[in-house]
Amino acid sequence: MTKIAHEGYRPTLFERLAAAPHPSVSFQSSFWHATAPAGPDAGPLHGEVETDVAVVGGGYLGFSTALHLAEAGVEVVVLEADEPGFGASGRNTGFVVPNLLTGLDPTVLRETMGARYGQQIAEMIGQGGELVFELIRRHGIECEARQSGWIQPVHTPEKLAWLEDRVAQWKALGRPVQALSRDEAVYETGSDVYHGAFLDPTGGHLNPLAYCRGLAGAATKAGARLFTNSRARSVMRHGDRWRVTTDRGSLVAKRLLLTTNSTGGGLAPAPEGTQFPITLFQVASQQLDPALRENVLPKDRASADTRKELIAYRWTWDNRIVTGGLLASPFGSAERAKTYHLDRLREMLPQLPPMEPAYAWQGRLAAARDFLPRLMKLTEHEGDQGWSAIACNGRGIAMTTALGRRIAQWLAGGSNEGLPVPVTRADPVAVPALASVAFSVWLPWNRRVDRAELKRAK
Ligand SMILES: Cc1cc2nc3c(=O)[nH]c(=O)nc-3n(C[C@H](O)[C@H](O)[C@H](O)COP(=O)(O)OP(=O)(O)OC[C@H]3O[C@@H](n4cnc5c(N)ncnc54)[C@H](O)[C@@H]3O)c2cc1C
Repeated sequence: MTKIAHEGYRPTLFERLAAAPHPSVSFQSSFWHATAPAGPDAGPLHGEVETDVAVVGGGYLGFSTALHLAEAGVEVVVLEADEPGFGASGRNTGFVVPNLLTGLDPTVLRETMGARYGQQIAEMIGQGGELVFELIRRHGIECEARQSGWIQPVHTPEKLAWLEDRVAQWKALGRPVQALSRDEAVYETGSDVYHGAFLDPTGGHLNPLAYCRGLAGAATKAGARLFTNSRARSVMRHGDRWRVTTDRGSLVAKRLLLTTNSTGGGLAPAPEGTQFPITLFQVASQQLDPALRENVLPKDRASADTRKELIAYRWTWDNRIVTGGLLASPFGSAERAKTYHLDRLREMLPQLPPMEPAYAWQGRLAAARDFLPRLMKLTEHEGDQGWSAIACNGRGIAMTTALGRRIAQWLAGGSNEGLPVPVTRADPVAVPALASVAFSVWLPWNRRVDRAELKRAK
């Protein structure tokens, strides 16, 4: 039986650590926050409000679900603890990636999830970039969106066979992907360390906070109601309704969907604990000479390579480089992160000048143990109609947008057949906070492997 938090429930220390809300200071210090247009007007929930579907969590997953529900004529209310995009959705790198993490290609997805779900999830994420950019166009979302392609440069010659296989698998699904040669990869990235690259031209990049605020605006225009600064403190089933309690009011709903990522604050510990949070640091450089764009990512693509400690970078519209990643130790990490990732990038792109961290921020992504999305029941009782959905796993812009639409179609009366994931019980990791620490602790080993592979490749 999934444990649901209630008035008397006190999360354990580990549940608190794993699910602690994001720090607000690092939200406001981001380049995205400095440049995104304002979100829709909204304020806290006061008194009692009734609705058909309550969505708790105002990130891409919550707003994509709410937008598509509202468009289908279903009454929906979104509760957000802070403001739209306050979580990972407003803090990420803004890469629109139409696939899952390395290793989770269609064949593995079918093996892991079974033929039906594996096929559906691969098709859904393969089309995810097109969906994101189509929504942006349809709703006129101002978010500096560039459908300029996503590339994954290959850092060793041994990986070239894997690259061919990856391209073949996505091509078999009708995706317009390509393998780039060494010369093309060097030209496209600006770095001679690469041996080839995977290219999906339907991906690209955007201002992630502006996209999230835009989705929120589109959802409210379509009829969804939004309450901000309304942290859900408890969710309880009363008769045939859910009651979500905030500090100043309550929301009563026939159906409930939690989209709080891993940071619900112990609202529903088991689904929250199914993912473990991973802190990532991000930095945007000072404005650089626009002429540099001719030999660093000249096609303005988003690039994330195949190393274990991957190197990801992109341009902004005003000629800054945005990059970032993990750090191995939490001590002094916010300060170290400001220069570590820029310096690391410059080692492979010596044509860049010394870069200053004009903006630095951090965010928490969440990953399930198998890096796959979930739709979990909140209780064992079939008629309860309460779920928690997670779709992050590090590559979430396309995935959360696409999964939100499918969940909305299902809640609007579609059949289970349209769902790309089964409805399951929560399967929490034993100690999510420790699992997330393990990620950083493992980093020095990953760096060692990367260094050895790069040395062999020279
Ligand atoms: C630094 C970083 C870089 C990343 N880079 C990329 C990238 O380039 N491309 C990509 O595709 N993905 C990337 N990701 C992952 C991506 O950001 C996530 O997959 C995605 O934003 C998850 O969206 P979500 O809606 O599930 O969760 P979130 O955006 O985290 O939304 C959850 C929301 O729930 C709210 N909430 C929590 N508890 C409560 C409560 N009790 N009551 C009410 N509201 C609550 C939070 O305030 C938050 O706004 C990155 C993530 C990080 C952190």
